[in-house]
Amino acid sequence: MAAEIRLFTCLTDNFGYLIHDPATKATASIDAPEAAPIIKALEREGWTLTDILITHHHHDHVGGVAELKQKYNCRVVAPHDKAARIANVDLRAGQGDVVKVGGLLARVLETPGHTLDHISYVFDSEKALFAADTLFSIGCGRVFEGDYPMMW
Ligand SMILES: [Zn+2]
Repeated sequence: MAAEIRLFTCLTDNFGYLIHDPATKATASIDAPEAAPIIKALEREGWTLTDILITHHHHDHVGGVAELKQKYNCRVVAPHDKAARIANVDLRAGQGDVVKVGGLLARVLETPGHTLDHISYVFDSEKALFAADTLFSIGCGRVFEGDYPMMW
């Protein structure tokens, strides 16, 4: 059974993403910009949050983690810290790791440049890539900690 993916707005200029496995009822939020819109989207779908897959440490990607973890007791997956500490993490993921969300498998790619510790998640079975701030619709993410060759 194919995964279901939902996209919605968060903060003033961000998007939230949920990926849901209908077979196991597992649901992951890709990053957590803020809790309220994610909770609203979960409640609209009748889904329960089981995992948060963090791409990098910027506040507009982790701002809702603590509140969501407290509410759902979900697992938090994050990159290995290099530049800044990410709180409330249960599992650290790096290049080549595979993270399970119910029956769905996400391949982890290290994609530094925007930040040194940025990772992306690839759900091959869904042909879905969650690249966060590594890619934007008309270019690559702004370089904060890395350099342009790294981003390339
Ligand atoms: Zn960022």
